[in-house]
Amino acid sequence: MTTELEVGLYIFILAGFLGYHLITRVPPLLHTPLMSATNAMSGISLVGSLVVAGSGYGTLSTLFGFIAVACSTTNVVGGFLITDRMLSMFRTREAASKVTSGSRRALMAILALAAVLGIVWAAAQGRSHGGGADLTHVMRYAYIVSAMLFILGLKGLSSPRYARRGMFLAEFGMLMAVVGTLFHHEIMDYRWIAAGLLAGSLVGGSMGLFVPMTAVPQRTALSHSLGALAATLIGVSEYYRHHGELGRVLMTAIGFEVMIGGLTFTGSLMAAGKLQELLPGSPITYKGQNASNITLLGIMVLCLVTLIVMPSAAPFFYVMVGLALLFGFLLVIPIGAADMPVVISLLNSYAGLADAAMGFVLMNKIQIITGSLDGTSGFLLSIIMCRAMNRSAMNVIFGAFGKVEPEEARPEAEGKGTVRSIQADETAVLFDSAQSVIIVPGYGMAVAQAQHGVSELAKILMKRGIDVKYAIHPVAGRMPGHMNVLLAEANVPYDQLYEMEQINPYFAEADVALVVGANDVTNPAARSNKSSPLYGMPILEVDRAKSIIVLKRSMRPGFAGVDNDLYYNEKCMMLFGDAKDSLTKLFAALRS
Ligand code: NAP
Repeated sequence: MTTELEVGLYIFILAGFLGYHLITRVPPLLHTPLMSATNAMSGISLVGSLVVAGSGYGTLSTLFGFIAVACSTTNVVGGFLITDRMLSMFRTREAASKVTSGSRRALMAILALAAVLGIVWAAAQGRSHGGGADLTHVMRYAYIVSAMLFILGLKGLSSPRYARRGMFLAEFGMLMAVVGTLFHHEIMDYRWIAAGLLAGSLVGGSMGLFVPMTAVPQRTALSHSLGALAATLIGVSEYYRHHGELGRVLMTAIGFEVMIGGLTFTGSLMAAGKLQELLPGSPITYKGQNASNITLLGIMVLCLVTLIVMPSAAPFFYVMVGLALLFGFLLVIPIGAADMPVVISLLNSYAGLADAAMGFVLMNKIQIITGSLDGTSGFLLSIIMCRAMNRSAMNVIFGAFGKVEPEEARPEAEGKGTVRSIQADETAVLFDSAQSVIIVPGYGMAVAQAQHGVSELAKILMKRGIDVKYAIHPVAGRMPGHMNVLLAEANVPYDQLYEMEQINPYFAEADVALVVGANDVTNPAARSNKSSPLYGMPILEVDRAKSIIVLKRSMRPGFAGVDNDLYYNEKCMMLFGDAKDSLTKLFAALRS
């Protein structure tokens, strides 16, 4: 056991480092697909769940195993489908004009079928020679190949060119791991397994195929909660099955699994509810909140330590599970809806850790590897987001950001100057003399669903010989890479999208900067006003353009609740109204 534990720990640490190197190479363009891809891979908890559901350990284990199989399958099927949907949208100008053939998919399907048949044949050989040991070897080799394919899958995400191919490899890896596990020597009954696989495929398939791109953050949060639920249920069923007669190492692993799994389950459910606007988005705070949360965490840790010393103290175990569920809920209520992307990434990281802990409980190395990769990915994405917002993770979790949401511009607007508004036909005239235009999309474009309008406008301008570029801020919108996915959905080639550092030098030469629903990411106060909450946040230097048009509905501030100095700039004109409507009026004016 100790040797196995040592090997497991080595694997966990090495996979974490490997994950760090792979994930830091993923460009911001692909951060949203990265989130859903790691989410799909974390569905590897399926392999452990299959064994628990089919091994006849007892009614409770079979029931919990069945639920865990259904949850993990939902994540695998839904996660891979939505990742593929997103990646298929990312095209260059050259590729956008070509018709892609289905030959690569056919080749992958043949390869997958050959691999599955190979595993089945090897397993049948093992069974006919009467050995469970042979079957275990088949499964182990399938896991080794899967781990390799997952790593190649993540490596593919370092470029939109290879991302889809990489994801095919990861899907293939998942298939091999699942098929290999079906020959686990302890599995006796396949009925609950089949039911779980079917239910999960139906739910995950519909989520993956039909969820709109704007709902990706809440889908991701929901998937984390399902993955965490699977880990928690398997942890509880393992504890129950052994009647608390566990070694210290196993008890520690189960303790971590249910603690992290439990809080991630309720925390992610809350995050999904806030993002879907089923729950109030503003932070809920009360006196002594942080102190009571820390006390709760302290009690949970105390329960865990007691259990490690005395594994048979069952009441402590169930109290710990209950408190973990409560803690997840309490941890997320003081965080505003707009900060949910950071929370989702952190919970992604926790879900990975719960998965890895489940790997230690079942001594399943593929789960340890993917759990570690998932944990690293979520953690890194949270750090990237916090840096781009110039805030610390502590400020996001404990800062109750966005609690006061002013309705209109704040008093500090007084004395800043005049705000000029413009009509669509006047805007069209501005484009007549323009040679270069930079489009700056933001959260408002997502709200108005104006990405198709933006893409159509760019086409009209390009037909007139105008150079059009898109400026993408790393935290524009409400999730990392949000704008990239929406614009890709509207068939904007990704080689027209420029990251902040690349585009900033071009603003001074741009005749028109067209801001579509972006606010905070363009606020010059971030550069010049030390008292602004945005001070220090890197911004798109829109104010350097020769003229600026802003499409938004009112003078209301954005996510940070801060008035935007850009709107008082004498080069800036506001085209008030819903961005989609304004764009429609602008087309009409341009055509006439
Ligand atoms: P923003 O500062 O939130 O501003 C969005 C603007 O869109 C609002 O001022 C709003 O003004 C306008 N808008 C809303 N609906 C509209 C519609 N239908 N038509 C036209 N305009 C509309 O957005 P941002 O500039 O994209 O900045 C993102 C913010 O979110 C940053 O502060 C960032 O730190 C934060 N954030 C981002 C992430 C991420 O991962 N991307 C994560 C966490 C936090 P009106 O109401 O007047 O129309």
